[in-house]
Amino acid sequence: LVSRENHPDRTTVTVRGVPIGPDTVTLIAGPCAVETPRQTLEAARMAKAAGATLLRGGAYKPRTSPYAFQGLGEEGLRILADVREQTGLPIVTEVVDAHDVALVASYADMLQVGTRNAQNFALLQAVGAAGKPVMLKRGMTATIEEWLMAAEYVAQRGNLDIVLCERGIRTYETATRNTLDISAVPVVQRLSHLPVIVDPSHSGGRRDLVLPLTRAAVAVGADGVIIDVHPDPGQALCDGPQALVDGDLDELAAVMRDFPPLM
Ligand code: PEP
Repeated sequence: LVSRENHPDRTTVTVRGVPIGPDTVTLIAGPCAVETPRQTLEAARMAKAAGATLLRGGAYKPRTSPYAFQGLGEEGLRILADVREQTGLPIVTEVVDAHDVALVASYADMLQVGTRNAQNFALLQAVGAAGKPVMLKRGMTATIEEWLMAAEYVAQRGNLDIVLCERGIRTYETATRNTLDISAVPVVQRLSHLPVIVDPSHSGGRRDLVLPLTRAAVAVGADGVIIDVHPDPGQALCDGPQALVDGDLDELAAVMRDFPPLM
């Protein structure tokens, strides 16, 4: 279902009127985690100022440590919905448990499946049946074949509104948090008709790498990027070191403007 073999034209997925696909480069930005109404609104305003047309933000955070901030849950979803109301930005947010899919889908415009759940087949089937566009991150140890098969689980439930997100893979290299597999973008675009975006924030794990990796993503033909921004990353409850700040936004906007989409 996700293969390009029987579907030669590349797909555009529309999230509440916002296209992600071959004719555009979509900027999705926002806080890694929803922490407070004010922090989320400020991050959303930063995202919008940089040219973002979709707001990201985690209400359920799948953290490596059980002692780390786990997200605000439904309260976080309410904050996101409120900020959507105030900014007009549709929201992309992660769901980590199949039992929460209906609840998250009742607030979200796009459901995100994260790297740690990329082969949670019950969750993939549940998001496939939820009637909302899905962003499927690549599992951190997933081959491209495994990633596409994960997408197939979603598609099998009748949902072809799937955006694939390369977010870096686990390699022997420790200088970056993950290794951005930039070649995955054109490789997957040749194998699948689905849009492919890149997460330069979670791949590098470092603020100073976000803009160079964004340039690389856009130059290689990614259909969009998803980027963490935070009004005060020093106080962030999740992944502060990779969040862009106010001073980075002009350059981010310029990167997005300077690279017209490859046709
Ligand atoms: C995220 O985007 O909030 C996230 C946790 O990303 P990943 O699943 O790629 O680690």
